[in-house]
Amino acid sequence: MAPSRVPLCALPTPLHRLQRASDDLGVDLWIKRDDLTGFAGGGNKGRKLEFLIAQALDEKSDAIVSSGSTQSNFLRQLACACQMFGFRCVAAAMELPFDSAAGRPEGRSFAHGGNRVLDEMFGLEMRVFPDDDWEVLDQHVRSIADELRGQGLGVTVLPTGGSTALGAYGFFKAGHELESQSRDPFEAIVLPTSSCSTHAGLGYYFHGKPTRVVGISCDPEPELPVELWRLAGGLDSMTGQDRMMVREDFDLRLGYVGAGYGVPGVAGDAAIEYLIKTEGILLDPIYSGKAFAGLLDLVRNGELSGRVLFWHTGGLPTLFATG
Ligand SMILES: *Cc1c(COP(=O)(O)O)cnc(C)c1O
Repeated sequence: MAPSRVPLCALPTPLHRLQRASDDLGVDLWIKRDDLTGFAGGGNKGRKLEFLIAQALDEKSDAIVSSGSTQSNFLRQLACACQMFGFRCVAAAMELPFDSAAGRPEGRSFAHGGNRVLDEMFGLEMRVFPDDDWEVLDQHVRSIADELRGQGLGVTVLPTGGSTALGAYGFFKAGHELESQSRDPFEAIVLPTSSCSTHAGLGYYFHGKPTRVVGISCDPEPELPVELWRLAGGLDSMTGQDRMMVREDFDLRLGYVGAGYGVPGVAGDAAIEYLIKTEGILLDPIYSGKAFAGLLDLVRNGELSGRVLFWHTGGLPTLFATG
């Protein structure tokens, strides 16, 4: 049975060619505009929320608890959806959550403005904790959920970025949407990867087809391929298919993270400037800018050629965040 869905996004999002960048780079470069999903300021999380919110409605929850960085695009869009459907929305957040093995990265911080302006308008109850490991952030989520249950509320807990198999299903559907917009297959789709359900859903959809899905990691976490594999397994159960994907089926590039998750880098900032000057399109410093920097590198070193698609995941509000 197809999972229930609430319509939130303006779909299909536009697909168009990047004429000036194509001429400059010598490839046939296209863009999928999920920055223009429209919902709560746009971005890729709207596609996941159409299914995640429907699930919370089916479960008759009173509150949704989740987590992320204080500039999380997911928390911003989640809070708006909660406002619409009458859920209380509580989040555990850190300015820069990190992986202990990698350590806390140095760099520009985004404590104020940006997504937080919208979070406040959307009634998000954000509890900010000192920077620590992602595991510690998850512990805070569990204790907040317990606290709300203790008040008699029915609670749905969503992982960071909404990355459950159901969230990934939103991008499985998006793969179908892309195919219905373009008869000629793309040689490659390039996108940013962090909590993994965008990459997992598209990678799952295009598995066994001529299109490669290349994720540019925005997170230095070594266990991301395990996460992709786990989500693909969840999609097997949800869709009743037996793709049995293995970790090696996912093309994930770890070389473009820069200093770490949540910290802008020189290459990403240069990529942002490049797309402004060629196409007048805005990328963000945490995800899409780094992913586009990866795309530029892979095109320039000859690894990507022909008909290439950049999947723009949004993130615009972060451009207005300040330290
Ligand atoms: C969350 C996010 C991503 C990463 O998507 P995941 O599904 O978490 O891997 C990429 N770009 C933007 C702008 C995001 O907000």
